[in-house]
Amino acid sequence: MRAFTYETLPMRVVFGPGCCPELAGEVDRLGMQRVLVLCTPQQEHGARRIADILGHRAVSVFAGARVHVPIATAEAAGTAARAAGVDGCVAVGGGSTIGLGKALALRDSLPMVAVPTTYAGSEMTPIWGVTEDGVKRTGRNRKVLPRAVVYDPDLTHSLPVGSSVTSGLNAVAHAVEALYAPDLSPIPALMAEDGVRALVGALERIVRTPTDPDARTDALRGSWLCGAALGSTTMSLHHKLCHVLGGTFDLPHADVHAVLLPHVVAFNSPAAPEAMAALRRALGVDLHPASALWQLANRLGAPTNLATVGMPTEGVADVVRQVLMEPYANPRPVDGPDLTALLTRALHGDGPRPDRGPGT
Ligand code: NAD
Repeated sequence: MRAFTYETLPMRVVFGPGCCPELAGEVDRLGMQRVLVLCTPQQEHGARRIADILGHRAVSVFAGARVHVPIATAEAAGTAARAAGVDGCVAVGGGSTIGLGKALALRDSLPMVAVPTTYAGSEMTPIWGVTEDGVKRTGRNRKVLPRAVVYDPDLTHSLPVGSSVTSGLNAVAHAVEALYAPDLSPIPALMAEDGVRALVGALERIVRTPTDPDARTDALRGSWLCGAALGSTTMSLHHKLCHVLGGTFDLPHADVHAVLLPHVVAFNSPAAPEAMAALRRALGVDLHPASALWQLANRLGAPTNLATVGMPTEGVADVVRQVLMEPYANPRPVDGPDLTALLTRALHGDGPRPDRGPGT
């Protein structure tokens, strides 16, 4: 075992099918008396049901959350919060809504309770992001951590199958990169491995029966574990690529994760044997994890091709340039030809080649 430093993140988690009525007690426990409920326009109906559960505590609903937290959205939500005189927020939704709650926690010091409805896992991390002039700035600050997270799998039944699959693979990607992170330590390692195990089994069942309550519960439990592993470690090439691709071409976040994951696993595998062993155990396979993830994506009907999720075919060189501009953690050194080969395979929907490297 390598030397490590591990800091537990202060996090209260309430988990269980049908547990969202407990939200009112969580808000009271934190001493919040007037909260702003945050959601996307698409989830306003569900968020208003949550506001009903909160009763007099919910003084307003801001249904303007958008992907990647545009600065104008954060400012509008801050104005709404001040106008309503709130002392906290309840973010009901996926990474976009929880990201908005984080922006308010950072800018306006408003504490947040998160009610996640996707598998993205943002609620478990101190990572915030705000987009200004087309550029997403990100950072780490414990101030943005939710004070409590209420995970009710019943709220995820409405997440369409396609989004459930890509969101679940987004969470798996967090765990994969945690498993070879430079600052991995024993507890995040356990969380990551079990998170992958829970999610991959659950996603197969969700594709068959989208409202299978046990599958939805397992998937959300897996998402919690993968998010917690992300929150405690440093991410590598996969997250860097997704960040650059999403920001440059405005691509759907979870879809990009789903397409790239087998390719990055193939590339990094020679430099991360322990992570690959953990992945084999979690995936329950003897074959290479990159091949197993590729087969899984195909079985689940996930996108496997960057062109079909919107990447222009002439965009590879620009992404390679941006990714190589700043150094970041990765178990295997990255160079231009390798990255070009990896992205070209992913762009055209070719399978990963763990046996021969990305460029062959
Ligand atoms: P999202 O929050 O953008 O949601 C996608 C769509 O699904 C939205 O229209 C939303 O309203 C809808 N939706 C969400 N839950 C639903 C449900 N249960 N039923 C029906 N519709 C539902 O997607 P996401 O993938 O969860 O989040 C993506 C964003 O989160 C990106 O900006 C990404 O960078 C960020 N993120 C941040 C972190 C972090 O640690 N900071 C981690 C993961 C993702």
